[in-house]
Amino acid sequence: MPFRPRYTGLIERYRDRLPIHDDTRIISLGEGNTPLIRLNNIPRLIGKEVDIYVKYEGLNPTGSFKDRGMTMAVTKAVEAGSRAIICASTGNTSAAAAAYAARAGITAFVLIPEGKIAMGKLAQAMMHGSVVLQIRGNFDAGMQLVKDVADQAPVTIVNSINPFRLQGQKTAAFEIVEELGRAPDYHCLPVGNAGNITAHWIGYCEYSAASGDHVTGACAFCNGHCAYAGGAIVGNRPKMIGYQAAGSAPFMRGAMVDNPETVATAIRIGHPQSWNQAWKVKDESGGWFDECTDAEILAAQKLLAEKEGVFCEPASATSLAGALRDVKTGKIPEGSSIVCTLTGHGLKDPDTAIAQSGGNVHTIDATLDAVRRAILDGMA
Ligand SMILES: *Cc1c(COP(=O)(O)O)cnc(C)c1O
Repeated sequence: MPFRPRYTGLIERYRDRLPIHDDTRIISLGEGNTPLIRLNNIPRLIGKEVDIYVKYEGLNPTGSFKDRGMTMAVTKAVEAGSRAIICASTGNTSAAAAAYAARAGITAFVLIPEGKIAMGKLAQAMMHGSVVLQIRGNFDAGMQLVKDVADQAPVTIVNSINPFRLQGQKTAAFEIVEELGRAPDYHCLPVGNAGNITAHWIGYCEYSAASGDHVTGACAFCNGHCAYAGGAIVGNRPKMIGYQAAGSAPFMRGAMVDNPETVATAIRIGHPQSWNQAWKVKDESGGWFDECTDAEILAAQKLLAEKEGVFCEPASATSLAGALRDVKTGKIPEGSSIVCTLTGHGLKDPDTAIAQSGGNVHTIDATLDAVRRAILDGMA
């Protein structure tokens, strides 16, 4: 067995592709390197010949892809001498900011919309000791306040307008290409601020530009970690598809939305910060935007949990809901390979999960007879 160094996070792994100096102190919790899971049962259920993979970003240290950006943003903030970070958040950014600030020994201030963040995310921000500012307003209002206050206080913004965030997040695309040996034909993501779809496109473009190195076996790209080192990595790029929640879909309306509403609270954003970049990604990649209703989103979340054993939060299921619809209609043709990013873990939002699967719990007497009867009923 050749020696494989311990995995210590995405900055170490992709150090050559990130704006990191040799002596930079890296703030990491071992993020990245998440599973790419091929769906076995759902394609058969819908009767279509497609390869659908889900990139399970819920398995990052704080349970969402935000950790990929946060390891970079906090590392660079500390490098610059910052003692405090600040963000507006629908929940997952605040969880990640709180954890990485704790790791770095600095202070995190997080602005969240009162009553509109999932319980798991609030618990994380509180447990990691961040200063939680619950505002009487939505994410978009919080984002504006963060921008305004950062001009007047010694705090570093770690929202995705911080360019280091997207640099960290682009590594998800690297991992996919290295695992499949090529980019998928289609990459589907839920879109809120549109930072993640922008970051993935940066990653795919960088990989595509460097892919020739693999053919000669001289790949400087992956530091020799890549399973395909010495083999041939195809230099293709995917069509990028961004799915929004119908009540929060500025890219479908072609204009900002002032009072976004959706059960998928992580993408309850009406004024996306990466507006121009995301339109460019759509055009350059030949992809598209579309929207899913809350009912479609919740149905996809349940389907994935029940048929594949993968539990993601509602916002994450938007990518699968949209992809399945486009596969069924043939807009995504049979024979395609598709990656859907599952942005966050299902445990983030237990309230929504329990509310939509009520009835699956049976209260019975603590007797052998009652249990035996329940088993027979359950198998019927
Ligand atoms: C942040 C987040 C999104 C949206 O990502 P953007 O980069 O804002 O488009 C989607 N799903 C989850 C779970 C998130 O936390």
